Amino acid sequence: MASVEIQGTAERVAAVIGILRQRFGDRVQTGEAMRRQHGHTLTWITNQPPDVVVWPESTAEVSEIVALAARYRVPVIPFGAGTSLEGQVNAPRGGISIDLQRMNNVLEVNDRDLDCVVQAGVSRKQLNDYLRDKGLFFPVDPGAEEATIGGMASTRASGTNAVRYGTMRENVLFLTAVLADGRVVKTGTRARKSAAGYDLTRLLIGAEGTLGVITEIGLRLYGIPEVVLSAVCTFETLEGACNATIQAIQMGLGIARIELLDEMQVYAVNKHAKLSLEQVPTLFLEFHGTQVSAPDQVTQFEAIAREEGARKFDWAEREEDRRRLWKARHDAYWSVKGGWPGREALATDVCVPISRLAECVRETQADIKRCGLIAPIVGHVGDGNFHAQPMVDLSNPAEVEAVKGFLERLVARAQAMGGTCTGEHGVGQGKMKYLEAEHGIGLSVMRQIKATLDPLDIMNPGKIVPDPA
Ligand SMILES: Cc1cc2nc3c(=O)[nH]c(=O)nc-3n(C[C@H](O)[C@H](O)[C@H](O)COP(=O)(O)OP(=O)(O)OC[C@H]3O[C@@H](n4cnc5c(N)ncnc54)[C@H](O)[C@@H]3O)c2cc1C
Repeated sequence: MASVEIQGTAERVAAVIGILRQRFGDRVQTGEAMRRQHGHTLTWITNQPPDVVVWPESTAEVSEIVALAARYRVPVIPFGAGTSLEGQVNAPRGGISIDLQRMNNVLEVNDRDLDCVVQAGVSRKQLNDYLRDKGLFFPVDPGAEEATIGGMASTRASGTNAVRYGTMRENVLFLTAVLADGRVVKTGTRARKSAAGYDLTRLLIGAEGTLGVITEIGLRLYGIPEVVLSAVCTFETLEGACNATIQAIQMGLGIARIELLDEMQVYAVNKHAKLSLEQVPTLFLEFHGTQVSAPDQVTQFEAIAREEGARKFDWAEREEDRRRLWKARHDAYWSVKGGWPGREALATDVCVPISRLAECVRETQADIKRCGLIAPIVGHVGDGNFHAQPMVDLSNPAEVEAVKGFLERLVARAQAMGGTCTGEHGVGQGKMKYLEAEHGIGLSVMRQIKATLDPLDIMNPGKIVPDPA
């Protein structure tokens, strides 16, 4: 594709904005507040707004915008709901934020095949509201309800249900995406399995918009379970909670969610949700099954938990009780933010083999104590994934330095245990520096893939793959 010969970046951006305005009218905005909202980071990473925001309504329009960006060599940053936590939607080199929220139609539901096709801007809440009457649901559940399916696919999101239903990696069947030169590619088919060539679907999942803009997504669906039971179980020790989890998974109990809250996180949740849980390591659980199997799972889990030093085991079947409980868990991030006003909340996201989880959490708690930090911990314990959430007073340089050191040690600890710097939040800007240690030569392979698919480096530049030294 021939690129336009205009020398300065500012001139090229101005030309692109002019063309976008002519073509898309009031679906193009350049106001400061709107641009800042689209560089929103939800972290301490500095806000870096794009130059312009545009709202396409079809794959063809996305293709047109990306082709224009390629012609003028202007960056493109896809935007779902902006709930990502590592600076993924920031625009360090300016450019066009492509906001997918107007592409929010459920296109197809095939209940006999348990699959559906949605546009990228459909939120997970919207999809599940749509599916409820059909007795179906889509299980991947990052805490943020407004997160879009396109954003979730792009960050390879997971959340509380992953222990039973998997992550976006397992639940996306195929995609339609616009590549960096404007070409539209369809990856995969509706078949449940295929051995036909390279897996482009999996390449785009977790690419955070650096390889293309996803416009449509085929998803696996599941029948809403006949019975859902929730339980809260408090433990003497963190090891007890982790060991009970490992045993339950080894026995193949049909646990759908199993979430660990440490003492400080229980304190924050109690305050926020007006609960009165004992401030000890606590598991929140959910069991999916039939009238026979679900209560049986609960009984079996309780027996395991008691052997591992469970103090108290309460379970709830009524939907309103379950909802209240899980709302408290989902609000963990906001409960921490609200619990220590005036401080910024940082979300960390390491993941280790489940057999190393208790050790990793315990060492992390000791580190938190040594540094004098406030950092509640919540974990998707069934996956070995946990979030310590340091609360930082950004006006205190010593504290900022202490937190920086804590973050480095946390990631190094997880990687040394055979784990990863990010279980589900993705890399964005925040985790780029850890990829060399995690992938070694694999990082240069990623760089080659990026250079091949996006030779002009216009697709969400400055994310995931660091520039070559
Ligand atoms: C309170 C809270 C709790 C959270 N808990 C979890 C959790 O438990 N598990 C979890 O996995 N995450 C969690 N997150 C993080 C977040 O919700 C996920 O990263 C989510 O998947 C992002 O979706 P989004 O639509 O907001 O994407 P955005 O933030 O808008 O974008 C994320 C990235 O994907 C790219 N992108 C967006 N749409 C597209 C597209 N159509 N095509 C190509 N690229 C695209 C963007 O450029 C960006 O790089 C949490 C966030 C919050 C605020």
